[in-house]
Amino acid sequence: MHSTTRNEDAAAAALQFQPLTVDDTKCLALMWNRGRGRQQCCLFPMSGGSLCKVHQRQPHGKVRGPIPAAKLSQFRKELLKPEKDSKQWYARYLMWGVAAQIAPDITSLSGLTPEQYEVM
Ligand SMILES: [Zn+2]
Repeated sequence: MHSTTRNEDAAAAALQFQPLTVDDTKCLALMWNRGRGRQQCCLFPMSGGSLCKVHQRQPHGKVRGPIPAAKLSQFRKELLKPEKDSKQWYARYLMWGVAAQIAPDITSLSGLTPEQYEVM
């Protein structure tokens, strides 16, 4: 165990669940994406910051750098599950459909609370 490389190891492990490209103009939060990750938040960050309103607490870590150890093991656990039930967020309207179910009165995705956003 070399403590000097621990951070690099953590960053390398995190990359498995991070998108290949990062849009610097968007929120830098990593999306849970049903345990698959590899998706950056599509919302714009709050002024002066790098994260949007719903991701201030970075529930799933960020698109670059180490993911919190607990979250990383959650991602790994999901990876081991069979894919038969996989439903990718392949379209934004689908995401809206779910958002409308869990929070019918919101007018935008940024109106979701972090807890509601957590399921997406
Ligand atoms: Zn965000």
